[in-house]
Parts: sequence; C-alpha cells; structure tokens
Amino acid sequence: MKITSAEFVMSNSNVINAPKDRIPEYAFIGRSNVGKSSLINMLMERKDLAKISGKPGKTQLINHFKINDSWFLVDLPGYGYAKVSKKKRQIFQYFIENYFKEREQLVCTFVLIDSRHDPQKIDLEFMRFLGENQLPFCIVFTKADKLGSSKLNKQITSYKKKLLNHWESLPTSFITSSSTGMGRDEFLNFIDDVNED
Ligand code: GDP
Repeated sequence: MKITSAEFVMSNSNVINAPKDRIPEYAFIGRSNVGKSSLINMLMERKDLAKISGKPGKTQLINHFKINDSWFLVDLPGYGYAKVSKKKRQIFQYFIENYFKEREQLVCTFVLIDSRHDPQKIDLEFMRFLGENQLPFCIVFTKADKLGSSKLNKQITSYKKKLLNHWESLPTSFITSSSTGMGRDEFLNFIDDVNED
C-alpha cells in the first residue's frame, strides 16, 4: 500500500465523540515507550504525525487519523506506566475497555511489544481481554534494530513459545524497526489485504 494521505482527524477522551464514519479502523496500543509513535510515523512516512512524547502515560486520548481517505489509524494511549497511581490505572482501564466495546468499525488491534522483552503480565492480560471479547489482534514487535539478527530471532521464537502457554494458536505477528523501516511493507500489505476482503 502506498500512503497517499495521512491526516489527523481528532482526539477524544470519550469514544462516543469519535468520528462516525463507517470505514475500517485499526488501533495501535502498547506499554508506554514501546515505540508506538515512532512506528506510526515510520509506517505513514511522516516525521511527526504521532507525537513522540517525552512524558509517557500523560495523555489519555483516542487519536484518530484518516489514511488514504479510506481507513482510520487510531493511536491509543500507552499503558503500564509505573508512575501512574492505582486510581488513574482504573480510570484508564475503563476508558480503554469502553473504546474496545463501543467501536464497531474496529477491524484489528496491533499490540506492540518491545522485541527485547519477555512476555509481561500487563501485555498478556491485555491480549486476554481482547481474546475474551472476540476482538482480532496482531502482535507487532518493535525496535528490532536494537538486537542483532540471531538474538532477535531467538528472542521472538522464545516469546512466541511462551505465548503458547496461554494461547492455543499464535496471532499474526510483525517484526518492525522504526529506525530502519523493517517490516513496513509486510505491515501495510496486511492492512491492504484485510481491507480488500
Ligand atoms: P511511545 O511512547 O510508545 O509512543 O514510544 P516512542 O515512539 O516515543 O519511542 C520511545 C523511545 O524509543 C524513543 O526514544 C524512540 O526514539 C525510541 N524508539 C522507538 N522506536 C525505535 C526503533 O525502532 N529503534 C530504535 N533504536 N529506537 C526506537
């Protein structure tokens, strides 16, 4: 897929105010600092479409972008920021659950995972939440350039193996780097294929 246009549409703190257009929607989510903004900018070939935030966990907004005038890319807030209080975490959970439960045009969620990390409780819980609500998702491994190729393969294989302790089958996954552009074509082709179905 060639990106011909990528425009910011709006930010919302409540899903009921999100755009009403019935076009396919793809959501991006992950732990704070996982590389979500960088990935969105890399995919869209824009320098600062998604804001690379210096203060993780601060903004809790649903950000809609319209891509190629035909689908929405949604940048959701990062989760799991250690310094956020328990009360704030509960508000976040409610806010996020609402988005997933209300947004009927959501086609697929991309759960971002830092390639260097082993499965973390919060990511596993989040994937379980998606599974329990029959919400399709893919895993996107980020920052792949931070590991050498043999270490990277080993780490991803081990991650997937550990996931099979929780899941009967593995979701589609992508290995990406915002620094090198790795994974961009596969990722955009996936969206193209899903949109055509
Ligand atoms: P977000 O909080 O998930 O939106 O993460 P950001 O996109 O702001 O990235 C967090 C930090 O990781 C920043 O310092 C980025 O420059 C860095 N980063 C993000 N993606 C990559 C990547 O693919 N490779 C490398 N080497 N660094 C990255």
